[in-house]
Amino acid sequence: AVQLPVALIVAATHASLGIGRAGTLPWRLPTDMALFRLVTSAPGGSTASSQPAVVMGRKSWESIPKKFRPLRNRVNVVLSRTVTDFGPGTHTFSSLSQALSALSPTPPPASTIPPVSSIYIIGGAEIYTEAFKHPATSRVFLTTVYADEEALQCDTFLPDFRSTGEWEQKPTADLRRLLNDLECHEAVQLIPEDGDRVKENGLEYAFSLWEKR
Ligand code: NDP
Repeated sequence: AVQLPVALIVAATHASLGIGRAGTLPWRLPTDMALFRLVTSAPGGSTASSQPAVVMGRKSWESIPKKFRPLRNRVNVVLSRTVTDFGPGTHTFSSLSQALSALSPTPPPASTIPPVSSIYIIGGAEIYTEAFKHPATSRVFLTTVYADEEALQCDTFLPDFRSTGEWEQKPTADLRRLLNDLECHEAVQLIPEDGDRVKENGLEYAFSLWEKR
């Protein structure tokens, strides 16, 4: 059984939920990147007794520049059916449910995985699609990118979870409260009031929280 709630964290275009292009991100959104880092990292940094886990697919791992991986102050979990070892500081599983079951605040003494404080699914499309169907997944931190969809030319998309009726968008105040509860106080500072959009690099985007009904 999965012992911790699971959250997706993802940036996607408003209309088609595009998330990637040619194996990489279709944009550069510094404030979104900062929010991603603050939300997924342990509040106490490297000294925290347990750290959040970031769970990703093999292709997303490969898309992280070598100098930035493994993502620091986080337990890096990479899913693959073909590769069994992604190097120091990584943990590999051949299924999502196996990975989620192995992540625990109190792993057994023989476990090679350190204690984990929370679980974030960080992509890509294959992993998100499976995670949406997993019963342990309870929330989505969604950055909505209001872009010219034609111009961005995304080739990778999220499934349209918004229209299934299973997920409910929460008010921005709830997102801010949740981040405070998670001790992500710096992250709260990045979130405009009232769901206002951030404008960066010619793109506009907004942060939102979705919860399973
Ligand atoms: P993924 O990152 O989801 O990786 C897919 C690979 O993961 C598969 O080839 C397989 O590896 C492994 N895998 C998938 N499902 C499972 C499973 N159930 N069990 C074990 N292994 C599994 O690739 P995508 O192509 O879907 O997404 C990558 C794109 O998404 C990139 O463009 C990236 O930049 C983008 N992205 C966007 C984000 C955003 O927020 N906008 C966030 C993250 C990524 P193998 O072939 O080795 O078996």
